Amino acid sequence: MNQSHSPDVPTVYLDHSATTPTHPDVVRAMLPFFTKNFGNPSSLYRLSDASRAAIAAARGQVAAALGCSDHEIFFTAGGTESDNWALKGMASARHQDGNHIITSSIEHHAILHTCEYLETQGWTVTYLPVDQHGLVDPGDVEAAITPETTLISVMMANNEVGTIQPVREIGAIAHDHDICFHTDAVQAIGHMPIDVKAMNIDLLSLSGHKFFGPKGTGALYIRDGIRLDNLIHGGGQEKGHRAGTENVPGIVGLGAAIERVTADITGHRQKVGALRDMLAQGIAERIPDSHYNGHPEERLVNNAHFSFPGLDGEALLLLLNSKGIYASIGSACSSGSEDMSHVLRAIGVPPAHGRSSLRLTLGDDNTKEEVKYVLDVLPQVIERLREMGSF
Ligand SMILES: *Cc1c(COP(=O)(O)O)cnc(C)c1O
Repeated sequence: MNQSHSPDVPTVYLDHSATTPTHPDVVRAMLPFFTKNFGNPSSLYRLSDASRAAIAAARGQVAAALGCSDHEIFFTAGGTESDNWALKGMASARHQDGNHIITSSIEHHAILHTCEYLETQGWTVTYLPVDQHGLVDPGDVEAAITPETTLISVMMANNEVGTIQPVREIGAIAHDHDICFHTDAVQAIGHMPIDVKAMNIDLLSLSGHKFFGPKGTGALYIRDGIRLDNLIHGGGQEKGHRAGTENVPGIVGLGAAIERVTADITGHRQKVGALRDMLAQGIAERIPDSHYNGHPEERLVNNAHFSFPGLDGEALLLLLNSKGIYASIGSACSSGSEDMSHVLRAIGVPPAHGRSSLRLTLGDDNTKEEVKYVLDVLPQVIERLREMGSF
Protein backbone atom coordinates (compact mmCIF):
# COMPACT_ATOMS: atom_id res chain seq x y z
CA MET A 1 0.00 0.00 0.00
CA ASN A 2 1.30 3.41 -0.90
CA GLN A 3 1.32 5.90 1.94
CA SER A 4 -0.34 9.20 1.14
CA HIS A 5 -0.33 12.55 3.02
CA SER A 6 -1.22 11.10 6.44
CA PRO A 7 0.76 8.08 7.62
CA ASP A 8 -2.52 6.49 8.82
CA VAL A 9 -4.35 6.73 5.51
CA PRO A 10 -3.13 4.36 2.81
CA THR A 11 -3.89 4.83 -0.87
CA VAL A 12 -5.83 2.00 -2.44
CA TYR A 13 -6.57 2.51 -6.12
CA LEU A 14 -9.57 0.45 -7.22
CA ASP A 15 -10.61 2.30 -10.35
CA HIS A 16 -8.59 0.55 -13.05
CA SER A 17 -11.53 0.63 -15.48
CA ALA A 18 -11.36 4.44 -15.43
CA THR A 19 -7.64 4.54 -16.09
CA THR A 20 -4.35 3.00 -14.98
CA PRO A 21 -0.94 4.45 -14.16
CA THR A 22 1.57 4.15 -16.97
CA HIS A 23 3.80 1.27 -15.92
CA PRO A 24 7.42 2.27 -15.17
CA ASP A 25 8.73 -0.19 -17.79
CA VAL A 26 6.41 1.42 -20.33
CA VAL A 27 7.60 4.92 -19.40
CA ARG A 28 11.20 3.72 -19.73
CA ALA A 29 10.54 2.42 -23.24
CA MET A 30 8.92 5.74 -24.21
CA LEU A 31 11.53 8.16 -22.84
CA PRO A 32 14.14 8.06 -25.65
CA PHE A 33 11.44 9.00 -28.15
CA PHE A 34 10.85 12.34 -26.44
CA THR A 35 14.50 13.31 -26.61
CA LYS A 36 17.28 11.45 -28.40
CA ASN A 37 15.07 9.74 -30.99
CA PHE A 38 12.85 12.69 -31.81
CA GLY A 39 12.98 12.40 -35.59
CA ASN A 40 9.79 12.73 -37.59
CA PRO A 41 9.02 9.22 -38.88
CA SER A 42 8.19 10.72 -42.29
CA SER A 43 11.66 12.28 -42.70
CA LEU A 44 14.17 10.42 -44.81
CA TYR A 45 17.41 10.97 -42.88
CA ARG A 46 18.97 8.50 -40.50
CA LEU A 47 17.75 10.29 -37.36
CA SER A 48 14.22 9.13 -38.24
CA ASP A 49 15.16 5.48 -38.68
CA ALA A 50 14.68 4.85 -34.96
CA SER A 51 11.21 6.44 -34.97
CA ARG A 52 10.10 4.41 -37.98
CA ALA A 53 11.52 1.20 -36.57
CA ALA A 54 9.84 1.83 -33.20
CA ILE A 55 6.42 2.34 -34.81
CA ALA A 56 6.86 -0.84 -36.82
CA ALA A 57 7.83 -2.76 -33.69
CA ALA A 58 4.84 -1.42 -31.76
CA ARG A 59 2.51 -2.37 -34.63
CA GLY A 60 3.89 -5.89 -34.37
CA GLN A 61 3.32 -5.94 -30.60
CA VAL A 62 -0.34 -4.90 -30.98
CA ALA A 63 -0.91 -7.36 -33.85
CA ALA A 64 0.61 -10.21 -31.82
CA ALA A 65 -1.74 -9.43 -28.92
CA LEU A 66 -4.80 -9.67 -31.20
CA GLY A 67 -3.73 -12.50 -33.51
CA CYS A 68 -3.72 -10.44 -36.70
CA SER A 69 -1.19 -9.11 -39.21
CA ASP A 70 0.82 -5.95 -38.57
CA HIS A 71 -0.72 -4.15 -41.54
CA GLU A 72 -4.21 -4.58 -40.04
CA ILE A 73 -3.32 -2.30 -37.08
CA PHE A 74 -3.84 1.48 -37.28
CA PHE A 75 -2.78 3.78 -34.44
CA THR A 76 -5.22 6.39 -33.12
CA ALA A 77 -5.44 8.82 -30.21
CA GLY A 78 -7.51 6.49 -28.01
CA GLY A 79 -10.59 4.35 -27.62
CA THR A 80 -13.03 7.14 -28.39
CA GLU A 81 -11.33 7.94 -31.68
CA SER A 82 -11.15 4.26 -32.67
CA ASP A 83 -14.88 3.85 -31.96
CA ASN A 84 -15.73 7.00 -33.95
CA TRP A 85 -13.60 5.88 -36.87
CA ALA A 86 -15.08 2.37 -36.93
CA LEU A 87 -18.67 3.62 -36.93
CA LYS A 88 -18.46 6.76 -39.05
CA GLY A 89 -15.86 5.26 -41.40
CA MET A 90 -17.97 2.15 -42.02
CA ALA A 91 -21.23 4.09 -42.26
CA SER A 92 -19.92 6.39 -44.96
CA ALA A 93 -17.97 3.69 -46.81
CA ARG A 94 -21.07 1.51 -47.16
CA HIS A 95 -23.86 4.08 -47.28
CA GLN A 96 -24.89 2.83 -50.69
CA ASP A 97 -25.35 -0.70 -49.33
CA GLY A 98 -27.64 0.29 -46.47
CA ASN A 99 -28.16 2.68 -43.61
CA HIS A 100 -28.93 0.43 -40.64
CA ILE A 101 -26.63 -0.19 -37.66
CA ILE A 102 -27.19 -2.65 -34.81
CA THR A 103 -25.61 -2.02 -31.41
CA SER A 104 -26.45 -2.67 -27.76
CA SER A 105 -28.05 -0.38 -25.21
CA ILE A 106 -25.09 -0.72 -22.81
CA GLU A 107 -22.25 0.48 -25.05
CA HIS A 108 -19.82 3.17 -23.95
CA HIS A 109 -20.84 6.71 -24.88
CA ALA A 110 -18.12 6.72 -27.55
CA ILE A 111 -20.38 4.28 -29.40
CA LEU A 112 -23.82 5.47 -28.29
CA HIS A 113 -23.25 9.17 -28.95
CA THR A 114 -21.68 8.38 -32.33
CA CYS A 115 -24.75 6.31 -33.21
CA GLU A 116 -27.00 9.18 -32.14
CA TYR A 117 -25.00 11.48 -34.40
CA LEU A 118 -25.37 9.03 -37.31
CA GLU A 119 -29.12 8.98 -36.69
CA THR A 120 -29.16 12.73 -37.36
CA GLN A 121 -27.38 11.99 -40.66
CA GLY A 122 -29.98 9.56 -41.93
CA TRP A 123 -28.91 6.26 -40.42
CA THR A 124 -31.26 4.01 -38.46
CA VAL A 125 -29.88 2.42 -35.31
CA THR A 126 -31.24 -0.54 -33.33
CA TYR A 127 -30.18 -0.49 -29.67
CA LEU A 128 -30.54 -4.08 -28.49
CA PRO A 129 -31.75 -4.76 -24.95
CA VAL A 130 -29.73 -6.90 -22.54
CA ASP A 131 -30.83 -9.36 -19.86
CA GLN A 132 -30.55 -8.71 -16.12
CA HIS A 133 -26.88 -9.75 -16.23
CA GLY A 134 -26.08 -7.39 -19.07
CA LEU A 135 -25.90 -10.04 -21.81
CA VAL A 136 -26.90 -9.42 -25.42
CA ASP A 137 -28.84 -12.38 -26.88
CA PRO A 138 -27.31 -13.37 -30.27
CA GLY A 139 -30.83 -14.34 -31.33
CA ASP A 140 -31.87 -10.71 -30.88
CA VAL A 141 -28.96 -9.64 -33.10
CA GLU A 142 -30.08 -12.01 -35.85
CA ALA A 143 -33.72 -10.89 -35.53
CA ALA A 144 -32.75 -7.21 -35.84
CA ILE A 145 -30.93 -7.66 -39.18
CA THR A 146 -32.60 -6.05 -42.19
CA PRO A 147 -31.45 -5.86 -45.84
CA GLU A 148 -30.17 -2.36 -44.93
CA THR A 149 -27.87 -3.51 -42.10
CA THR A 150 -24.19 -2.81 -42.82
CA LEU A 151 -22.66 -2.77 -39.34
CA ILE A 152 -23.06 -4.54 -36.01
CA SER A 153 -21.16 -3.10 -33.03
CA VAL A 154 -21.27 -4.89 -29.68
CA MET A 155 -18.67 -4.33 -26.98
CA MET A 156 -16.48 -7.21 -25.80
CA ALA A 157 -16.78 -6.32 -22.11
CA ASN A 158 -18.80 -3.66 -20.35
CA ASN A 159 -16.99 -0.86 -18.54
CA GLU A 160 -19.49 -0.57 -15.68
CA VAL A 161 -20.68 -4.03 -14.69
CA GLY A 162 -17.97 -6.03 -16.52
CA THR A 163 -20.26 -8.38 -18.49
CA ILE A 164 -18.47 -10.20 -21.34
CA GLN A 165 -20.55 -10.55 -24.49
CA PRO A 166 -20.78 -13.64 -26.76
CA VAL A 167 -18.70 -11.83 -29.37
CA ARG A 168 -17.73 -14.92 -31.37
CA GLU A 169 -21.39 -15.91 -31.91
CA ILE A 170 -22.43 -12.36 -32.79
CA GLY A 171 -19.53 -12.09 -35.26
CA ALA A 172 -20.54 -15.38 -36.90
CA ILE A 173 -24.10 -14.11 -37.36
CA ALA A 174 -22.78 -10.86 -38.86
CA HIS A 175 -20.62 -12.77 -41.34
CA ASP A 176 -23.46 -15.10 -42.35
CA HIS A 177 -25.26 -11.96 -43.51
CA ASP A 178 -22.21 -10.23 -45.05
CA ILE A 179 -22.34 -7.54 -42.35
CA CYS A 180 -19.25 -5.93 -40.82
CA PHE A 181 -18.71 -6.66 -37.10
CA HIS A 182 -17.04 -4.15 -34.77
CA THR A 183 -16.28 -4.64 -31.10
CA ASP A 184 -15.12 -2.12 -28.50
CA ALA A 185 -12.54 -4.21 -26.64
CA VAL A 186 -11.17 -1.31 -24.58
CA GLN A 187 -11.99 -2.99 -21.25
CA ALA A 188 -11.12 -6.52 -22.32
CA ILE A 189 -7.44 -6.13 -23.27
CA GLY A 190 -5.17 -7.95 -20.82
CA HIS A 191 -8.03 -9.58 -18.93
CA MET A 192 -8.97 -12.32 -21.41
CA PRO A 193 -7.36 -13.96 -24.44
CA ILE A 194 -8.36 -12.29 -27.71
CA ASP A 195 -8.03 -13.72 -31.21
CA VAL A 196 -9.76 -11.51 -33.77
CA LYS A 197 -9.84 -14.22 -36.43
CA ALA A 198 -11.31 -16.94 -34.21
CA MET A 199 -13.76 -14.42 -32.73
CA ASN A 200 -15.05 -13.30 -36.18
CA ILE A 201 -14.10 -9.66 -35.57
CA ASP A 202 -13.65 -7.21 -38.48
CA LEU A 203 -12.97 -4.03 -36.49
CA LEU A 204 -11.69 -3.77 -32.90
CA SER A 205 -11.03 -0.70 -30.75
CA LEU A 206 -8.49 -0.53 -27.93
CA SER A 207 -7.07 2.18 -25.67
CA GLY A 208 -3.61 2.33 -24.07
CA HIS A 209 -4.47 3.99 -20.77
CA LYS A 210 -6.80 1.16 -19.73
CA PHE A 211 -3.90 -1.32 -19.61
CA PHE A 212 -1.00 0.59 -18.04
CA GLY A 213 -0.13 2.43 -21.24
CA PRO A 214 -0.15 6.18 -21.84
CA LYS A 215 -3.32 8.25 -22.19
CA GLY A 216 -4.26 9.51 -25.63
CA THR A 217 -3.08 6.35 -27.37
CA GLY A 218 -5.12 3.65 -29.05
CA ALA A 219 -5.53 1.50 -32.11
CA LEU A 220 -8.15 0.22 -34.51
CA TYR A 221 -7.78 -3.26 -35.97
CA ILE A 222 -9.17 -3.27 -39.52
CA ARG A 223 -9.43 -6.73 -41.01
CA ASP A 224 -7.94 -7.18 -44.49
CA GLY A 225 -10.52 -6.37 -47.15
CA ILE A 226 -12.70 -4.16 -44.93
CA ARG A 227 -13.25 -0.77 -46.52
CA LEU A 228 -13.42 2.17 -44.14
CA ASP A 229 -13.54 5.87 -45.00
CA ASN A 230 -10.87 8.00 -43.36
CA LEU A 231 -11.77 10.01 -40.25
CA ILE A 232 -8.77 12.36 -40.27
CA HIS A 233 -7.48 13.72 -43.57
CA GLY A 234 -3.98 15.07 -44.13
CA GLY A 235 -0.59 13.51 -44.76
CA GLY A 236 0.28 9.95 -45.60
CA GLN A 237 0.69 8.58 -42.08
CA GLU A 238 -0.93 5.20 -41.34
CA LYS A 239 -1.09 4.59 -45.11
CA GLY A 240 -3.03 7.83 -45.46
CA HIS A 241 -5.94 6.45 -43.42
CA ARG A 242 -5.18 8.34 -40.21
CA ALA A 243 -3.21 11.46 -41.01
CA GLY A 244 -1.07 13.51 -38.65
CA THR A 245 2.49 13.12 -37.39
CA GLU A 246 2.57 9.98 -35.30
CA ASN A 247 2.62 10.15 -31.49
CA VAL A 248 5.86 8.15 -31.51
CA PRO A 249 6.42 7.96 -27.71
CA GLY A 250 2.74 7.12 -27.24
CA ILE A 251 2.80 4.41 -29.89
CA VAL A 252 5.96 2.93 -28.34
CA GLY A 253 4.21 2.98 -24.95
CA LEU A 254 1.07 1.37 -26.34
CA GLY A 255 3.13 -1.45 -27.86
CA ALA A 256 5.15 -2.03 -24.69
CA ALA A 257 2.00 -1.95 -22.54
CA ILE A 258 0.00 -4.42 -24.62
CA GLU A 259 2.92 -6.82 -24.79
CA ARG A 260 3.26 -6.59 -21.02
CA VAL A 261 -0.42 -7.23 -20.18
CA THR A 262 -0.85 -10.05 -22.67
CA ALA A 263 2.37 -11.88 -21.73
CA ASP A 264 0.72 -13.93 -18.96
CA ILE A 265 -3.05 -13.61 -19.09
CA THR A 266 -3.54 -16.91 -17.27
CA GLY A 267 -1.37 -15.78 -14.36
CA HIS A 268 -3.08 -12.39 -14.31
CA ARG A 269 -6.52 -14.00 -14.23
CA GLN A 270 -5.51 -16.22 -11.32
CA LYS A 271 -4.00 -13.41 -9.29
CA VAL A 272 -6.51 -10.64 -9.94
CA GLY A 273 -9.42 -13.08 -10.02
CA ALA A 274 -8.52 -14.30 -6.53
CA LEU A 275 -8.38 -10.72 -5.22
CA ARG A 276 -11.69 -9.81 -6.88
CA ASP A 277 -13.39 -12.93 -5.48
CA MET A 278 -12.03 -12.18 -2.02
CA LEU A 279 -13.38 -8.64 -2.31
CA ALA A 280 -16.80 -9.63 -3.72
CA GLN A 281 -17.31 -12.50 -1.28
CA GLY A 282 -16.15 -10.36 1.64
CA ILE A 283 -18.62 -7.62 0.73
CA ALA A 284 -21.48 -10.10 0.28
CA GLU A 285 -20.72 -11.64 3.71
CA ARG A 286 -20.14 -8.46 5.67
CA ILE A 287 -22.61 -6.00 4.22
CA PRO A 288 -26.33 -6.72 4.55
CA ASP A 289 -28.61 -5.95 1.60
CA SER A 290 -25.79 -5.76 -0.96
CA HIS A 291 -26.52 -6.59 -4.60
CA TYR A 292 -23.83 -7.87 -6.97
CA ASN A 293 -24.53 -6.44 -10.44
CA GLY A 294 -23.43 -7.93 -13.74
CA HIS A 295 -22.99 -11.56 -14.75
CA PRO A 296 -21.93 -14.07 -12.06
CA GLU A 297 -19.38 -15.77 -14.36
CA GLU A 298 -19.20 -14.03 -17.73
CA ARG A 299 -17.55 -10.91 -16.33
CA LEU A 300 -14.21 -9.15 -16.36
CA VAL A 301 -11.87 -10.80 -13.89
CA ASN A 302 -11.08 -7.45 -12.23
CA ASN A 303 -14.64 -6.09 -11.88
CA ALA A 304 -16.84 -6.02 -8.78
CA HIS A 305 -19.98 -3.88 -9.01
CA PHE A 306 -22.47 -3.56 -6.15
CA SER A 307 -25.60 -1.70 -5.18
CA PHE A 308 -26.15 -0.87 -1.50
CA PRO A 309 -29.74 0.38 -1.22
CA GLY A 310 -30.37 3.03 1.39
CA LEU A 311 -27.42 5.31 0.76
CA ASP A 312 -26.16 7.84 -1.74
CA GLY A 313 -23.36 6.57 -3.97
CA GLU A 314 -21.61 9.93 -4.19
CA ALA A 315 -21.55 10.26 -0.40
CA LEU A 316 -20.08 6.76 -0.28
CA LEU A 317 -17.33 7.73 -2.74
CA LEU A 318 -16.45 10.80 -0.69
CA LEU A 319 -16.19 8.84 2.54
CA LEU A 320 -14.10 6.16 0.83
CA ASN A 321 -11.92 8.90 -0.61
CA SER A 322 -11.27 10.21 2.91
CA LYS A 323 -10.09 6.69 3.81
CA GLY A 324 -7.73 6.66 0.79
CA ILE A 325 -9.88 4.30 -1.27
CA TYR A 326 -10.42 5.38 -4.87
CA ALA A 327 -13.43 3.84 -6.56
CA SER A 328 -16.26 4.91 -8.81
CA ILE A 329 -20.03 4.88 -9.06
CA GLY A 330 -20.01 3.43 -12.54
CA SER A 331 -18.47 4.92 -15.59
CA ALA A 332 -16.19 7.91 -15.16
CA CYS A 333 -18.20 9.64 -17.86
CA SER A 334 -21.53 9.48 -16.03
CA SER A 335 -20.34 10.89 -12.71
CA GLY A 336 -21.85 14.22 -11.80
CA SER A 337 -25.08 13.54 -13.62
CA GLU A 338 -28.19 12.95 -11.52
CA ASP A 339 -29.51 10.16 -13.70
CA MET A 340 -28.69 6.57 -13.05
CA SER A 341 -26.36 5.14 -15.66
CA HIS A 342 -27.82 3.79 -18.90
CA VAL A 343 -26.16 0.44 -18.19
CA LEU A 344 -27.84 -0.06 -14.80
CA ARG A 345 -31.15 1.05 -16.27
CA ALA A 346 -30.76 -1.47 -19.12
CA ILE A 347 -30.13 -4.38 -16.72
CA GLY A 348 -33.21 -3.43 -14.75
CA VAL A 349 -31.61 -2.12 -11.56
CA PRO A 350 -34.26 -0.11 -9.65
CA PRO A 351 -33.44 3.64 -9.57
CA ALA A 352 -33.01 3.61 -5.79
CA HIS A 353 -30.34 0.90 -6.14
CA GLY A 354 -28.74 2.54 -9.14
CA ARG A 355 -27.92 5.70 -7.22
CA SER A 356 -26.27 3.69 -4.48
CA SER A 357 -23.87 1.71 -6.60
CA LEU A 358 -20.14 1.19 -6.33
CA ARG A 359 -17.70 -0.08 -8.97
CA LEU A 360 -14.43 -1.54 -7.74
CA THR A 361 -11.98 -2.47 -10.50
CA LEU A 362 -8.67 -4.09 -9.64
CA GLY A 363 -5.28 -4.26 -11.29
CA ASP A 364 -2.27 -6.48 -10.82
CA ASP A 365 -0.73 -3.69 -8.73
CA ASN A 366 -3.33 -4.31 -5.99
CA THR A 367 -2.52 -6.55 -3.01
CA LYS A 368 -4.32 -8.82 -0.55
CA GLU A 369 -3.58 -6.30 2.21
CA GLU A 370 -5.38 -3.61 0.24
CA VAL A 371 -8.43 -5.83 -0.22
CA LYS A 372 -8.43 -6.58 3.53
CA TYR A 373 -8.27 -2.87 4.26
CA VAL A 374 -11.28 -2.22 2.01
CA LEU A 375 -13.18 -5.06 3.65
CA ASP A 376 -12.50 -3.44 7.04
CA VAL A 377 -13.46 0.08 6.01
CA LEU A 378 -16.38 -0.44 3.63
CA PRO A 379 -18.86 -2.11 6.02
CA GLN A 380 -18.34 0.66 8.63
CA VAL A 381 -18.74 3.41 6.06
CA ILE A 382 -21.89 1.86 4.62
CA GLU A 383 -23.42 1.29 8.06
CA ARG A 384 -22.73 4.90 8.97
CA LEU A 385 -24.32 6.24 5.77
CA ARG A 386 -27.36 4.03 6.19
CA GLU A 387 -27.77 5.15 9.82
CA MET A 388 -27.56 8.77 8.76
CA GLY A 389 -30.38 8.02 6.35
CA SER A 390 -28.50 9.94 3.71
CA PHE A 391 -30.89 8.72 1.08
C1 LIG B 1 -12.46 4.12 -21.64
C2 LIG B 1 -13.34 3.53 -22.69
C3 LIG B 1 -13.45 4.11 -23.96
C4 LIG B 1 -12.76 5.40 -24.32
O1 LIG B 1 -11.37 5.27 -24.43
P1 LIG B 1 -10.46 6.60 -24.34
O2 LIG B 1 -9.10 6.12 -24.73
O3 LIG B 1 -10.54 7.06 -22.92
O4 LIG B 1 -11.01 7.58 -25.32
C5 LIG B 1 -14.24 3.48 -24.91
N1 LIG B 1 -14.88 2.35 -24.62
C6 LIG B 1 -14.82 1.76 -23.41
C7 LIG B 1 -15.56 0.49 -23.16
C8 LIG B 1 -14.05 2.34 -22.40
O5 LIG B 1 -13.99 1.76 -21.20
